Amino acid sequence: MDTEIVRKRLLRRREELQGRANRASADLRHESDPLSADFAEQVTQRESDEVLSAISETARGELKQIGAALRRLEEGRYERCEVCGGPIEPGRLEAVPYTDRCRSCAAGEPGAAAR
Ligand SMILES: [Zn+2]
Repeated sequence: MDTEIVRKRLLRRREELQGRANRASADLRHESDPLSADFAEQVTQRESDEVLSAISETARGELKQIGAALRRLEEGRYERCEVCGGPIEPGRLEAVPYTDRCRSCAAGEPGAAAR
């Protein structure tokens, strides 16, 4: 595996997510759109705040996983399953580049590699 390519992919994804999380946080602070005095309008704003919080939380969760994946990459553990210690399927890393477990462990069947 070309770890340099993987690292670039992870870094690009991290930037994208950081941008998304930052935009969502800025919108949540209502920097460019202050809370309306109109009640119905406020309800709409609150609803969109909930969506923004969800976006921001999801992005931050993935950012954490990407940070951990970059660390594993540096330590040469990137292709090792954190649960069973077996190899993570290349196709799985391709699809979920920040995953830390093999297909079986992700599916909740730890120890599949030891069978
Ligand atoms: Zn595993």
